[in-house]
Amino acid sequence: MAPSLPQCLFCGKRSRPSTGLPGICVSCHIGIPWIRSPRCQTCGRHVGCPDCSRSREPVPIRCNRSAVAYTSDMRELLGQYKYRGNERLAPVLGLMLDNAYAILQQEQSEQQQTATLQSNSSRKPFSARNPNHLLIHPALWQADLLVPVPVSTVRLSERGFNQAEQLAEVLTLRRGIPQLPLLVRTHHTGKQSSKSRSERLADMKHAFTGNTDPEILRSLKGQLDLITPRLQKRPLQIIIIDDIYTTGSTIRACAEALHQLIGNLGYRAEIYSLTWARS
Ligand SMILES: [Zn+2]
Ligand SMILES: [Zn+2]
Repeated sequence: MAPSLPQCLFCGKRSRPSTGLPGICVSCHIGIPWIRSPRCQTCGRHVGCPDCSRSREPVPIRCNRSAVAYTSDMRELLGQYKYRGNERLAPVLGLMLDNAYAILQQEQSEQQQTATLQSNSSRKPFSARNPNHLLIHPALWQADLLVPVPVSTVRLSERGFNQAEQLAEVLTLRRGIPQLPLLVRTHHTGKQSSKSRSERLADMKHAFTGNTDPEILRSLKGQLDLITPRLQKRPLQIIIIDDIYTTGSTIRACAEALHQLIGNLGYRAEIYSLTWARS
């Protein structure tokens, strides 16, 4: 008798497993609405973006990138994980987020390379340039630190886990980028989904602050010491991790609190965000 096929974590059916995303079946893998090249370079949205073109205010993040579009299938999946406590989904959702990391890394590496070539060619006349530097394979862009968006203590005790932390953990294991809980929530903001855009924005403004736990700050300082030589050339590159990006108000509030925390330590930060889904 043929061995029975594994049960898919997404659809629950027993069918041929995907090789790219362990735990799910081939047809669920094919159905994932990946965001491969975002339409909006700022927030990573897959469709035209009135939010980013509406406001010309400086944004505290370089950009957001999301793994998938928040379709009804993806909403159902996130619901199974977050609200119905199916924690077995964490590794595969984390792996999907890792895809978005790979895209961000590629984009940033290309930008870095272009900037280097431009500054080299503006500094020296062509004939004086060492042609060999063009052949050296440029280093890949790497984030220094992952910071999960914290959930309120009320939510944490209801749910038993912080989804952002679990997703970040997958990246930490795959990429070797440390995760530190540098943010805390200042108050419980209630269910965001039932609020209007402006209500959410007002609510979020001061919802986060830098973590002042001495042990966390000691870990952060240890991490900063390790990469001091790199930080003489560029800012600290931090990625905020969350499950979903809706208006961006959560990410912006987190980024502002992080800029403050890192600035107080005498460093400059460049902040990005990676979210599993973009609505
Ligand atoms: Zn399936
Ligand atoms: Zn946008």
